[in-house]
Amino acid sequence: MSGNSGNAILKFPVQNEHEFESNRIKIVNPNVRSHIRIRCCIAGGGPAGMMLGFLLARAGVSVVVLEKHADFLRDFRGDTIHPSTLEVMHELGILQDFLRRPHQEVRELGGQIGDEYVSLVDFSHLPTHCRFLALMPQWDFLDFLASHAKRYPTFKLEMQGEVIDLLQEEGRVVGVRAKTPNGPFEIRADLIIGADGRHSVVREKAELKVDNFGAPMDVLWFRVSRQPSDGEQTLGRIVKGRMMVMLNRGDYWQCAYLIRKGDFEQIKQKGLEAFRDDIVSVTPFLRDRVDELKAWEPIKLLTVLVDRLQKWYRPGLLCIGDAAHAMSPIGGVGINLAIQDAVAAANILADRLSRGTATMVDLERVQWRREFPTRVTQGVQVFIQDRLIQRILGSNEQVRLPWPVKLIKRWPFLRRIPARLLGVGFRAEHVRTPEVSSGR
Ligand SMILES: Cc1cc2nc3c(=O)[nH]c(=O)nc-3n(C[C@H](O)[C@H](O)[C@H](O)COP(=O)(O)OP(=O)(O)OC[C@H]3O[C@@H](n4cnc5c(N)ncnc54)[C@H](O)[C@@H]3O)c2cc1C
Repeated sequence: MSGNSGNAILKFPVQNEHEFESNRIKIVNPNVRSHIRIRCCIAGGGPAGMMLGFLLARAGVSVVVLEKHADFLRDFRGDTIHPSTLEVMHELGILQDFLRRPHQEVRELGGQIGDEYVSLVDFSHLPTHCRFLALMPQWDFLDFLASHAKRYPTFKLEMQGEVIDLLQEEGRVVGVRAKTPNGPFEIRADLIIGADGRHSVVREKAELKVDNFGAPMDVLWFRVSRQPSDGEQTLGRIVKGRMMVMLNRGDYWQCAYLIRKGDFEQIKQKGLEAFRDDIVSVTPFLRDRVDELKAWEPIKLLTVLVDRLQKWYRPGLLCIGDAAHAMSPIGGVGINLAIQDAVAAANILADRLSRGTATMVDLERVQWRREFPTRVTQGVQVFIQDRLIQRILGSNEQVRLPWPVKLIKRWPFLRRIPARLLGVGFRAEHVRTPEVSSGR
């Protein structure tokens, strides 16, 4: 994997077709298939890709992030920023700046199970600077990371740069082929990172083997307006055969309604009126505004996947985030695991990459470091899916409190355990990479 091109890689003449210009790759002649060489090329500008790009650039490594969309504006991409991610931002010295952006702070999570309300999670005892979960649209979060990454001259972000293939030589990945509205181009790099999400093109082209763990449910996301009398609580609601999670987003509720896997078509056939009735049966206080759902279009289906690569790397290539392991929405931990992967990858690889000496052993170390927390988290998610959610969605009986909930209800200090699991998770990562360049 080691490269020989020195660290001043951005000085590449790049064959005169491209030049690096204020963090953009400018394609001068769109008709010429041209290529660029750089230390690290990241496919995907989601939480994993943007955080890794930021950390590597901060450590002085030349890095380009290719994001296929023109902007970060995608609805319902997951908006939960957990205390572990806020801690990473504290370590990077950007937490206060982040908290100045509009967000909501959730300090406690509860569940309405049948007729009973139980407070289940209390973040107030976490050993972190922020003892709350921040809710912020993911595009704001990504935009925030991009704005900080762009302060470093070795960071490049190419929007509308879609990776379509890998360049391989003698069994080693040496680059990517990408397309933009201005034409195709190739980028050669010492290391390619697949951070292109759960439908990763990179992992498919690299023929990495995936283990699928299945899921009994899908999720319908939609929003309904919120009124002051509704209360503040972000909470889960469970009644006979139905489950919904409601996130307080200020003037609206972001709702995640769970359905049995593959049932969306059937629900649509029954009609919007029947769907609205279902929502009211879980959340009676929405009766006066459920009519805001006037069409199926704003109701988005999330097909739930839980999977994990057997091997996260190949010579010249590493996958992180959802590309390495798609998470169930239970606990809303996907973003945070993606961020933790990025921090671990930067800690292990930044110095090696800047010297051009990264090896397969380093890539293996990243998987070793992150596979354990991923396995355990997915194990807990699959357990909850199979033991609780499948039973509830398949039944018409009144829900009784599961025994762990009864224990928490009886001894409220136990709420610290789920708070720790959700807020910090297993094997928390800390920023160990230096700030080599002071940024612009
Ligand atoms: C509807 C929904 C709701 C969710 N809710 C939550 C939640 O509340 N909390 C939570 O923690 N997690 C949630 N998740 C999961 C969370 O969004 C992911 O786990 C997390 O975003 C993973 O980050 P990532 O960077 O690995 O991948 P992604 O966020 O998927 O980012 C991948 C990026 O790569 C880009 N891309 C894809 N293909 C290419 C290509 N070929 N070339 C270039 N770019 C490409 C994509 O446009 C995207 O920007 C939700 C997911 C969905 C779909």
